[in-house]
Amino acid sequence: MTQSVNPPTPEHRTERGDRLFSFELFPPQTPEGLAKLDLTVGQLRQLEPEFFSVTYGAGGSTRERTLGVVRSLQDQGLTVAPHLSCVGATKATTRELLEQYRAQGIRRIVALRGDLPSGMVEVGEFRYAADLVAFIRAEYGEAFHIEVAAYPEYHPQSTSPDADLRNFRAKVTAGAHSAITQYFFNTDAYWYFLEQCRALGITVPIIPGIMPISRFTQLARFSDACGAEIPRWIRRKLESMGDDSASVRAFGLDVVTRLCDDLLRGGAPGLHFYTLNQAGAVTTIWQRLGL
Ligand code: FAD
Repeated sequence: MTQSVNPPTPEHRTERGDRLFSFELFPPQTPEGLAKLDLTVGQLRQLEPEFFSVTYGAGGSTRERTLGVVRSLQDQGLTVAPHLSCVGATKATTRELLEQYRAQGIRRIVALRGDLPSGMVEVGEFRYAADLVAFIRAEYGEAFHIEVAAYPEYHPQSTSPDADLRNFRAKVTAGAHSAITQYFFNTDAYWYFLEQCRALGITVPIIPGIMPISRFTQLARFSDACGAEIPRWIRRKLESMGDDSASVRAFGLDVVTRLCDDLLRGGAPGLHFYTLNQAGAVTTIWQRLGL
C-alpha cells in the first residue's frame, strides 16, 4: 500500500521535511464568494501546499459548484483533491463523477460518507465511507490516492471509541492511502489515537486537520456539530473577549500556532488546514511556524 504520494520537492524537503501540507476550500454560493475565493487562492498558493482540497455537499448538493472550483483551480495549474461524499449517491452517479475527475487529471480524492441534509431520506447505494473506498479501488485501482476522515476525539455517531477505531481501520483495509483528521485542540487526543491505530496495525499517514480560530460563535457551532472539543480554557478566554475580534484573532493565532508547532515537533506527518476560504490566519500561522 502506498505510504506517501506527491513527494515533496527538494526545496520543500529542506524546509518541511517529508511532511505534507494542504489547504481545504469550500465552493462558494455567490459570485462575491467566488471572487473572494480567487483572492484567497492567490495568496495561499504562494505557500506552495501539496494540494488544495474542495469540499462536496452530502447528497450531491454542491456537485456543480465543487466541479467548477476544482476545474478553476486546475486551470490555474494547482494540484486539487476533490472531496466526494457517498451518502445519498448511486454507484452510477459516483462513477460518472470519478470518470470525469480521472479524465481531467485528478489523482487524489477525499472519500467520505457525509451527513444527509435534513429532509433528505434517500440513503443511496453506499452506507459508509468504507463502501465508497472499496468501490473506488475496485473500479479504478491505483488511479486515485484516497484520503479518508479520522476522528481523534471519535465520531459523534460512533457506538464506542473501539468501534469507531475498527470502522476507521475498515476504511484503510478497503484501500485508503492516508487520512486527515477532524480538527482538535488537544494534542493528547491525536497522539493517543495514533498509538491506538498503530496497535491495530494501521500504518497509513494520519494528518492532523487544523481549524484556525477567528470567531468564537462559528467555532462553537462547528464544534457542537462535529464533536470536536473546545478545551475549557480556550472557550473561557474566547467567551471573555466577546465582540473584540482583534483579541479573538490574536489569541486564536497563538493557540493554533502552538498546536501546529507541537504537532510538527512531535512527528505529525503534515498539516491540513480548514481555511474556510480565508487566507489571513493560515498565512500568519505558516509564517510563524517558519514553513
Ligand atoms: P464513516 O467513516 O462512514 O463513519 C461514519 C460513522 O459510521 C462513524 O460513527 C463510524 O464509526 C460509523 N461506521 C462506519 N462503518 C460502520 C459499520 N460498518 N457499522 C457501523 N457503524 C459504522 N462532509 C461533507 O459532507 N462533505 C465534505 O466535503 C466533508 N469533508 C470532510 C473532510 C474531513 C477531513 C473530515 C474529517 C470530515 C469531512 N466531512 C465532510 C464530514 C463527514 O462527512 C462527517 O463527519 C460524516 O458524519 C462522517 O463521514 P466519514 O467519511 O467519516 O464516515
